[in-house]
Order: sequence, then C-alpha cells, then structure tokens
Amino acid sequence: MTTLADPVPGGRPGDVQRAIELAAQLARQGVRGIVLAYVDTAGVGRVKTIPTGRLADAASWGVGMSPVFDTFLANDSIVTTDVLGSPDGDLRLYPDLDRLVALSGQPGWAWAPVDRITQEGEAHPGCSRTFLRRIVEDAEERHGLTFKAAVEVEWYVALGDVPDGEFVPAARGPAYGATRQVELSDCLADLLAALAAQDVDVDQIHPEYSAGQFEVSVGAQDPVAAADRSVLVRQTTRAVAQRHGLQVSFAPAVFAEGVGNGGHLHLSCWRKGLNLHAGGKGRYGMTGDAESFTAGVLAHLPALTAVTAPSPASYLRLKPSQWAGVFTAWGRETREAGLRVVTGTVGRREQDANLEVKPVDLAANPYLALGCVIAAGLDGIASATALPEEITGDPARFGAEEAAARGVRRLPTSLPEAVAEFREDEVLRAALGPVLADAVTAVRLGEAAAVEGLDDARVAAAYRWTY
Ligand code: GLU
Ligand code: MG
Repeated sequence: MTTLADPVPGGRPGDVQRAIELAAQLARQGVRGIVLAYVDTAGVGRVKTIPTGRLADAASWGVGMSPVFDTFLANDSIVTTDVLGSPDGDLRLYPDLDRLVALSGQPGWAWAPVDRITQEGEAHPGCSRTFLRRIVEDAEERHGLTFKAAVEVEWYVALGDVPDGEFVPAARGPAYGATRQVELSDCLADLLAALAAQDVDVDQIHPEYSAGQFEVSVGAQDPVAAADRSVLVRQTTRAVAQRHGLQVSFAPAVFAEGVGNGGHLHLSCWRKGLNLHAGGKGRYGMTGDAESFTAGVLAHLPALTAVTAPSPASYLRLKPSQWAGVFTAWGRETREAGLRVVTGTVGRREQDANLEVKPVDLAANPYLALGCVIAAGLDGIASATALPEEITGDPARFGAEEAAARGVRRLPTSLPEAVAEFREDEVLRAALGPVLADAVTAVRLGEAAAVEGLDDARVAAAYRWTY
C-alpha cells in the first residue's frame, strides 16, 4: 500500500530518520545517486537526481524543479494555460520512501517516484501523482472502495548501433514465436533478474505480435503503486536493453502501419476484502457496483481517450482489428472491444477477475490515466449507470445500423477529436480540477499542432524514440 499522506515541509512523521537509514543501506550496496522521477502531462518521464547522501534532505525539504514541465510537449517545446507554462516559480519534489528501490539494471543508482508540492507546503494542483492519490482516497471515503491495478507494458526492441532514428528489430521470427525468445535470451533473463531484485512480481514476459515487440505483465497493486511500477518497469527495461547494446521504444506506434504498443490497464474494485468483479449476481459474476463501474468507464471512454491516448502517434495505433480496442463496447475476453471483462479461471476468480481498459498506451501519464478511469467508473456507480449488452467478436464488422442499435461507437480517430470529447466531459474535468484539466487540453492541442501537415510515417518517426 502506498502512503496516502501528502508530503509536508520538514518531512512526513518518521520520514527523515527513515531516509537516513535507507541512504546508509543504499550506500553500503554501492548506490551513489537517486533518481527522482515523475511523469509530465504529455506522458514524458522527467527526472532530477541527487547523491545518495542527500536523501534525508530531499525527504525533509524536497528538491527544486520548475512547474513549467506541466505544459511541456513531447518535443520539449512549451505551451501555456492561464496558470501554467511560465518560466517563473518553483516546486519541491518529495521522494516517496515507500517506493524507493535500488536499480538493478543501473548499478550505482536508486529510484523513487515523487510528489510535487509548492514552496508554501501545499499540494501542487498540477501533480498527477497527488491527483491519483486523491481519487483513490476519495473512493475509499465516499464509496468504501479500494482498487487493484496493473499496467501492461509493451515495447519494441531495436539494434542500438544503427543510424540515428532508424529502427532495425533486435528479434525477428513469427509473432509470439519461439525464435524471438531465443534471440533475446540473455537480455530477457537479465530483465527478469532486475525486476525480481526490485520486487516487481512478473506474471509473464513474452514476444508480442511484431518483429522486435515484447510484453511484460506484472502483479496488481493499489493504483498509485501500479502507476509507479509501470514507470519503474520501463526505466528498467530500457536500462537492461542498453547494457546489451539495444534500444527500446514504448511509443504507441513505432511505425505508421501495423500493430502498436499498448499499455492496457487492469483494474478491479474491492470492498471489505472482496473483489466486486466476482461472485456477484450480474453478468460474468460482476456485482451491481462492478457492472456500474464498467458502464461508467464505457460511457466516458471517448473523452478518456484524450488522457489514455495522448499523442498524435496514439491514433496510428488506435485502429480496428489490431487488438487496441477502439470501440465503445465490452465483452468477456474480447480483444477488439474497448473494455474486456476478464473473469479469470474457475477456482481463482475471487482474486483474478478484473476489467481491462484497452485504448491506453504508454505515452499516457499512468497517474492521470488510472485516476481518470477510476473517476469515470465511480461516476457509473454514483449514477447507477446500466451496462449495455455485451458484444462478441470484432465490432468492426457491424454495419452502421447495428452499431447504432448496440450503442457501439468508434473512439476518436485523432487527438483533436479526443480533446473535443474531453472538453465536454464535466466529470473528468471536475475530477482533474481546473489546473490539470486545462493542462491536458493545452498540451494535447499543442501536440496536435506540432505535427500538423506531417504524414503518418513522419508522425510515427517524430515520436519513435520519445517514450
Ligand atoms: N499491441 C496491442 C495494442 O496495441 C495489444 C496486443 C495484446 O492484446 O496484448 O494494444
Ligand atoms: Mg500484448
């Protein structure tokens, strides 16, 4: 469980002593520096680093960083809102000691996600990690709900010594093919060792559809920890690959055509230790609340896309018949519907049953994505939204009439379309608060403007090595 308390100047109770002890322990392990990590609105990971001996100071007083990154674009240019994007001001980055971990793939370094607070000691309204913590806290207070979540991570791995910008897959052979596992044998084994050393419980790691594409899935945790973990898994995957002379891309679409990299979210709601997605009287064992939660996510899915698929490259991935889930529909184990109800196997359903949200990629800030999906689901519970009929198979086959009758819509096909949906969505905007909601809109519109006039191949190339 992640601590739900905001950082405070001087340190949370007990944190300073704890930081002194942790720093000493890390130093004994040969750790020289600590990476303080967060994800900006555009979905780009940003860091500051400190010497290990400064940890207690960082836990007490934070580390300075400009708030301007809240409106950075993926190409490092800056847009503005009425309160963000100015060169003025400063924030304090506070490491979460619960998540501090020595980086096995980067000897000499440790890593911790941060919360950002103002110099006045208040929560920064643009901090996405604080936003997610608030949503989780609120769900517990108002609905007695807790969550388990996990983010799947897909990536393409390429040879490292090729001309700048080019992509030469480091593994070929058929999709899910045995040859690929052999080709990357040492790298994958090192990755498993690094993740295990960092207490990341891996469910599976496997070759994905396209040449050079792999996926790792990990155990579920509380949503903040799950978002932290998805950042850590990517940091580790990149670092291990680099030590093997390889480079990785988590971009939504490495190429304009073909299968992209997803970052599917898995989420289950729990009350008093019971999984609401199993053992209920609704469809596939869902309780009434789990059905309404699913219905809420479904209803907000077009607007959510602005948060879960935030890059112009996201819309190269979001195409039918590529398992990216581009329709407002749900079904049991459906891979073409936006929402896949996962029941798990008989005998394990109480632990395993969950909801998978598919139109999510790894350009998405995982804190914003999880927070907004949960807010959408809670809206479904609060308004007792009815879950429509399930679908089976590929919704792309429905004619216009059947799709309309079933309420099945194609999700936005471009970032501006997604922003238009998002702007109309009062529930998501209210959950985010005006500062973050405006940042999302401004950054998405800036991102769309940055690629105006580029063809699909150029859009893919522009973001190929950003994420
Ligand atoms: N690569 C697919 C995507 O972009 C997902 C494949 C899968 O279902 O694992 O979402
Ligand atoms: Mg996959």
